[in-house]
Amino acid sequence: RAKAQGRNVLRFFSPELTIRARERLSLEADLRRALQQGELALHYQPQVDLRSGRIVGVEALLRWRHPQRGWIAPGAFIPLAEECGLIIELGDWVLRAACEQIRHWSDAGVAPRQTAVNISAVQISSGGLLDTVRRTLAATGIAPDRLELEITESFVMFERERSFKLLADLRALGVQLSIDDFGTGYSSLAYLQQLEVHKLKIDISFVRNMTRNRGNASIVKAVIAMGHSLGLEVIAEGVEEIEQAAHLLALQCDVMQGYLVSKPLPVDDITRLLESFEPIVIPVDETLAIGG
Ligand code: C2E
Ligand code: MG
Ligand code: MG
Ligand code: MG
Repeated sequence: RAKAQGRNVLRFFSPELTIRARERLSLEADLRRALQQGELALHYQPQVDLRSGRIVGVEALLRWRHPQRGWIAPGAFIPLAEECGLIIELGDWVLRAACEQIRHWSDAGVAPRQTAVNISAVQISSGGLLDTVRRTLAATGIAPDRLELEITESFVMFERERSFKLLADLRALGVQLSIDDFGTGYSSLAYLQQLEVHKLKIDISFVRNMTRNRGNASIVKAVIAMGHSLGLEVIAEGVEEIEQAAHLLALQCDVMQGYLVSKPLPVDDITRLLESFEPIVIPVDETLAIGG
């Protein structure tokens, strides 16, 4: 009997599982150290106004330079940070770093209209976000409307009342709000209207094949029209080709972000780009114009 139980225990701690659990633990410990030792950095990706061709915003994207593993993308550690609660400290760091950067850019006269920061649902449900934002704005002395917070749709689903209240309070502080990855969640029109955000970001998955897939193009067109009817600015994510930009312009989309303009860049590179960016000219595609 004891032997059988022992076998069960052994089976539970299979070598594979132990290794994965150990990797997780070591990654978590590494991440705590990364925060303290300055291994985290923000890269910035430009957002370009489709009509003027000028940079109107940048999105801050977290990067981790691991001493052994090299650069690690956020998809590989943010979910873990959310599970172990470290996302709160991480999120505070991101917000502070981005606001300090806005300060530098403002002092140098090259600040884009907005710098966007991604906010995790865990930061929202933790309850401390409003205070953190307020304190960070005060500490860095930036104009609140230079800061944009990106929130995904899904968070609204659990804790609706509190999220609405929080967004209203953030809005009252003067920061800009956008819904990230729009179209992948479940927000209804009614939600959207109550949310009172400033911008919608169409998810990369719809933009990706819009010039080849009629279904995706229809979704993009509908989201743009809906966003505008609610008075929101619409940003297309993941724009890689000039044909997509032309199509988006014809559909009256406002802003594009993607590899066509630039990948996310380290601070020095994005700063140079902000200083010397030549407006992009997007060819007008008459055949795609609405009602044309
Ligand atoms: P996201 O906020 O939707 O960011 C857009 C992602 O698409 C970024 O990936 C960006 O590098 C990538 N991207 C931009 N343009 C293109 C393109 O033309 N083609 C393709 N294929 N990809 C493009 P990244 O940097 O790996 O970030 C992934 C996700 O991690 C972000 O998605 C965001 O949800 C999360 N994230 C990043 N930084 C932070 C952060 O500071 N805090 C939190 N909570 N989440 C973050
Ligand atoms: Mg984002
Ligand atoms: Mg997105
Ligand atoms: Mg995303």
